[in-house]
Amino acid sequence: MNDTGYNLRSMRTENKKLLLRLLAARGPMSRKALAEAAQLTPAAVSKLCTELIAEGRVAETAPAETAGAGRREIPLRLCLQEQLILGVNAETTQISYALCTLDGQLKALLQTPFTAGIAAVVKTAQDFLAAHAVAPETLFAVGVCVVGAVQTGSYGLWDAQAVCKAFDAAFRRPVAIENNVKAFALGQAQLRGAGKGATLFFKWGPGVGSAILSNGTVLSGAESGLAEIGHYIVRPDGKPCRCGRRGCLEAEAAVNGVPSPTVIDTVALALANTATILAADGVVFFGTQFADPAVAEALKDRILQYNSTLPPAAVLTAPENDRLAYIGPAALCAERFFFV
Ligand SMILES: [Zn+2]
Repeated sequence: MNDTGYNLRSMRTENKKLLLRLLAARGPMSRKALAEAAQLTPAAVSKLCTELIAEGRVAETAPAETAGAGRREIPLRLCLQEQLILGVNAETTQISYALCTLDGQLKALLQTPFTAGIAAVVKTAQDFLAAHAVAPETLFAVGVCVVGAVQTGSYGLWDAQAVCKAFDAAFRRPVAIENNVKAFALGQAQLRGAGKGATLFFKWGPGVGSAILSNGTVLSGAESGLAEIGHYIVRPDGKPCRCGRRGCLEAEAAVNGVPSPTVIDTVALALANTATILAADGVVFFGTQFADPAVAEALKDRILQYNSTLPPAAVLTAPENDRLAYIGPAALCAERFFFV
């Protein structure tokens, strides 16, 4: 992240964003520490913090114990846990509805089979909120995650614009929609702070997807299709893929149950090559296939055989793999509506 300050009057919003990012990356900080880190004057930071507190985005914590005399510094923290979002995560077989905080703490979860009917999805979401006595107007935002490219209709599962319009009409709250793998990568960056360099995220089960986190930013193509490793052709004239071609990684890696060593090898080769192109310093796995640690271990071994420049400790299953249903939607809402 960029820690340098901005002193132009017109950069007020950017300065607030900078303070929020600093608090996200480093945890609670005093105004004085924020001013030093942001390279802004204490007076400017104090004013910006007053605004952020009034907006409900930042709060004072208990003062830190200080040795000896002198003014005590009151650390400020982000108000992520106070904000509740509705997360809707659509996979090809299932839709997850989650009530969780902006920092990804789950309050309630409902999972249903996938349905293409947007009106039915909105109705289910309304009933879900009502069952947990949550008034829609108290939601911070609604975050929707889907498989595939959002702008091109997510393989025909849902039309992104129609989904946003339907939730907006029903809840009158801000709505954001994004590819599920990109949203999850965003969540990883928010949860653990994104360093320099590139990390390749690979989702396996159900379906295959990928995202690239580079210098704290999730890379995005014009059609949201960048880094779609699922459509690498790994076997000419192989199995037909839903994208219309044959032999894509997604089609070849789609297995019921434990993947064979051949399938693991195919996936590993694609990941190792992609990591090479990116000069990636890490590969993070997630998805239902990695609920079995043996699959992750076998894949990791093969990747490291093909690409020995990757640090072994940086090839791993995401610790949040069991929070897939809502970590992406929460991160998406935070990115679009909180850190702005
Ligand atoms: Zn394909």
